[in-house]
Amino acid sequence: MDDCIFCRIVAGEIPADTLFEDDELVVFRDIAPQAPVHFLVVPKKHLSGPAAIAQADEALAGKMVRVAARVAAEQKVGDAFRLVMNNGAKAGQVVFHLHLHVLGGKDAPWPI
Ligand code: AMP
Repeated sequence: MDDCIFCRIVAGEIPADTLFEDDELVVFRDIAPQAPVHFLVVPKKHLSGPAAIAQADEALAGKMVRVAARVAAEQKVGDAFRLVMNNGAKAGQVVFHLHLHVLGGKDAPWPI
């Protein structure tokens, strides 16, 4: 989608601090971190948010969690990290492209 900022990151049109990428996912640091370690796991396929995950996307959604845990380990957060997905503006979603927040590092608990 042309007007989707995360689609533009996926397409390489906007730079990101990328931690992992494969054919289905890109993982990059959040531009406004809410914790010492804060990155986003983003599917390359455009889905508007968690409520748009269909049965056909279940493997992709599970992979998002698995990759989140692996990158969290690489970022040396130990066994303490938080996964957050916001759905809808009233829940604080501002980017309407599915993403999983991963927060960790010192100073837990983290704000989101
Ligand atoms: P949400 O409120 O769940 O929609 O979260 C969107 C997140 O995307 C926020 O934490 C933003 O700081 C982050 N964000 C927005 N634009 C960028 C960007 N260009 N690069 C990295 N993170 C971004």
